[in-house]
Amino acid sequence: MKKNPLKLKLPILNLGRLIVFLTIVTGLVMMINTFIASYQRQQVILLESRLELNHAYATKIAQSTDRFLANALQQLNVSAKRLGQQFNRQTQTEEVERLYRQTNDFSATGVIDNTGNLKAGSTGRSDVAGIPLNSTGVKLALNRKAPTISPPYHNHNGQLTIAISQPIFDPQGNYLGFVSGAIYLGQANSLDGILGHHYYSDTSYVYAVDEQRRLLYHPARERLGSIVGENKVIDLVLHGLTGSQRVINSQGRDMLAGYAPVAATGWGVVAQSPTGHITEPLTSNMLDLILDTSFPALTILILAWWVSRLIAKPLTELAIRARELHTTDPNHSLHSIRSWYFEARQLKRALMQSQASFHHQIDKLNETAQTDPLTGLLNRRGLADAINMLEQNEHACGLIAIDIDHFKQVNDTYGHNTGDQVLKYLADVMKKHSRQEDILCRNGGEEFLMLLPDVTLDQTIQAAERLRAFVANQDNIPGCRRLTLSLGVTHWSPDSNESIDTALKQADEALYKAKETGRNRVNAGYSL
Ligand code: GH3
Ligand code: MG
Ligand code: MG
Repeated sequence: MKKNPLKLKLPILNLGRLIVFLTIVTGLVMMINTFIASYQRQQVILLESRLELNHAYATKIAQSTDRFLANALQQLNVSAKRLGQQFNRQTQTEEVERLYRQTNDFSATGVIDNTGNLKAGSTGRSDVAGIPLNSTGVKLALNRKAPTISPPYHNHNGQLTIAISQPIFDPQGNYLGFVSGAIYLGQANSLDGILGHHYYSDTSYVYAVDEQRRLLYHPARERLGSIVGENKVIDLVLHGLTGSQRVINSQGRDMLAGYAPVAATGWGVVAQSPTGHITEPLTSNMLDLILDTSFPALTILILAWWVSRLIAKPLTELAIRARELHTTDPNHSLHSIRSWYFEARQLKRALMQSQASFHHQIDKLNETAQTDPLTGLLNRRGLADAINMLEQNEHACGLIAIDIDHFKQVNDTYGHNTGDQVLKYLADVMKKHSRQEDILCRNGGEEFLMLLPDVTLDQTIQAAERLRAFVANQDNIPGCRRLTLSLGVTHWSPDSNESIDTALKQADEALYKAKETGRNRVNAGYSL
């Protein structure tokens, strides 16, 4: 297969890191999500409640303005009635003074006759009497001959003014002139109290416009009288609508505006707050929230890291052991791994089964290679391994070398097959006379060897003697009827400086002596 040279070789992640990574990513995504959702929700609530608040406030201010104007007209009406009865200098002066002094509603008051001449003015100067006036307010009042609230205009002092007036009719219904109260916008008076002073503790403010979009009230006094440019909220309020809206104002600022019209004049009142200032505390609240939650979040992350390690540990160990599965001792490699949850336990079980089956197969192979096919006892190779094992584990053992007496005659008399049968028979007898842990070996021909782990020399001699006596006393051995054995016995201890091989040679020598001294006997050498 061709290798793609452009393909990047990514580092292989291990399970532990993968879980920690996933936990951190999941945690962070969830946290960020929660923060964003909570921020947006709170922002909506905050903006909505501020819009509502500003609407309520604008409505209240518009209503107060309406009441104020109605009240001002009412006051002027009372004077107009009296002046209709007595249109003389004294009454004119009295009414003008009363209107001027009684309340803080008017910046100036005056009685003007039907030709536009001032009859009496609140300035108190008698020389003003008879002065012809031609301001917007005067012209409007003379034209309409009805209760009038003028649009704002600049009076002869350059003062932005609105004039409120009531017509004066004599008892016969003849028009005599009008009584007027002027309100200077931006100066301290009742209307200014209503429109210009507020209890906002932040950067919110109120402004009012007349029907021509002219600013009647605004915290920036220098803007009074100027025409407001494009502004959706003003369009709505001047159409007599009331409500609230987020809007970009004529100065390009993002505002939360509540608006309400003044019914009597068609003016509009707008209460508004800069959107940025309203959401500002939210941002710092969110930062506080992030700080507050960072400690528990960190704790959770550490916990997740710890749990992920616990989860990954058995799997990592199993993965490492799986690599050396077939080279290690099955008894202590996998057993020691703590598999505390289902999947790891299943995996461990599967690995152990695989390992066991592998070792079983190896054992079987070994068995074939190390076993004498005729008798089923160990062959020389098996014996060598057994000796190695005894030496390594430092087990003392007794050794018995066995040789059949006059076996040649058996072969010669009954044939080779019978000889083989006899060899098998002797192997079975040896097995019956030995313990599980004893090592039995066909050393070659009709010579056998027994290694008895963890026994003394005496016990070995006794075992050899039992075997010899048993065989010698049999009178119906298959094939040849009777048989005797010669046996040489020694003992090996790991404390000696000699090897088991040396002990084997001694056993052979002892056997040779048994032959020499008459056969059918046990001869013991000395213990090593
Ligand atoms: P002794 O040991 O008492 O001195 O006399 P022996 O007749 O047993 O003498 P030796 O041990 O020298 O003879 C061994 C004989 O064992 C020689 C051979 O014919 C026979 N033999 C060796 N291997 C086998 C075998 O696998 N099968 C059979 N049937 N005979 C074998
Ligand atoms: Mg022999
Ligand atoms: Mg022999």
